[in-house]
Amino acid sequence: MTRAAVLAGGVGAARFLDGLVRVLPPRDVTAIVNVGDDMEWAGLHISPDIDTVIYTLADMVNPETGWGLRGETRRTLDRLSDLGGPDWFMIGDLDLATHLFRSHWLEQGNPLSTITRDLARRAGLALTILPATDDRLRTLVNTDAGEFSFQDYFVRRRAADTVRSLRFDGVETAQPLPKAILALLEADVIVIAPSNPFLSIEPILSVRTMRETVIKARAPVVAISPIIGGQAVKGPAADIMASLGHDVSALGVARLYAEIADTFVLDQADAALAGEIEAETGLHVDVLPTLMVDAAAKTALARGVLEAAGHAV
Ligand code: GDP
Ligand code: CA
Repeated sequence: MTRAAVLAGGVGAARFLDGLVRVLPPRDVTAIVNVGDDMEWAGLHISPDIDTVIYTLADMVNPETGWGLRGETRRTLDRLSDLGGPDWFMIGDLDLATHLFRSHWLEQGNPLSTITRDLARRAGLALTILPATDDRLRTLVNTDAGEFSFQDYFVRRRAADTVRSLRFDGVETAQPLPKAILALLEADVIVIAPSNPFLSIEPILSVRTMRETVIKARAPVVAISPIIGGQAVKGPAADIMASLGHDVSALGVARLYAEIADTFVLDQADAALAGEIEAETGLHVDVLPTLMVDAAAKTALARGVLEAAGHAV
């Protein structure tokens, strides 16, 4: 038996997890998901990364965007627009049901983790999906134009402001989900998904005891680069790395994970960097095709990552 614990953001993580549950029994897979992008919108609690993971693994995701539901309609949003908004955040008609469900049960006093478990079960998923914390944690983005919530910065202002720093509001008091800590301690392999290092992975690791637990856990830690050929496959990772003063490359990502990971997986397009990364960071480097264009690519990457951790399947 190989138990895997995966630190996960949204799209990049969901794609990786989709491969992992094809090569390991899903019940042996635990995703510990970022909640820093969570937001309250029109009175609803939205957990974008958790929803992306569930929709992707349940094969319900919109393949064009990588988030939201396939075949989605926007009648509610159009009507909301006619009323004068708020309409800057894209909420599809079916997606809305997820947010209503979550918000209702939160209001009834249920923790986010329980509601997430219910949503995953209703979607027919057997892996364990855990928010990093049940407590309130919000990524705030400091820019030249001021401090914004992540969605404000990313969606409403279209990521146009230069990012100076990030802050995780609530991180001093947020408690890590006990089940997440246990999953890390019991795992045979810990994977840092090819997610945005600053916006998806750092908020998870910043929750108290989380980083230390990953470091002291007995399992090998494998990190996968979300940067290929100096670019993000999708999203603002490259821009944010650059504006925070980091090298936008697999080397730049490897530096971020040097303390926490044992093995670093980079794309074959960046094979030339392998020697330099090993020499500078001391990480063991594995070169794999990491572009998850289809199910075959996803499963091949999952297999390669398990192999890199010494758990061939
Ligand atoms: P978000 O919250 O939806 O932005 O999701 P993540 O943080 O999980 O994922 C965003 C990151 O995933 C971006 O930096 C992308 O470069 C990366 N990504 C997306 N698809 C792939 C892929 O197929 N391969 C690799 N290596 N990275 C990917
Ligand atoms: Ca996200």
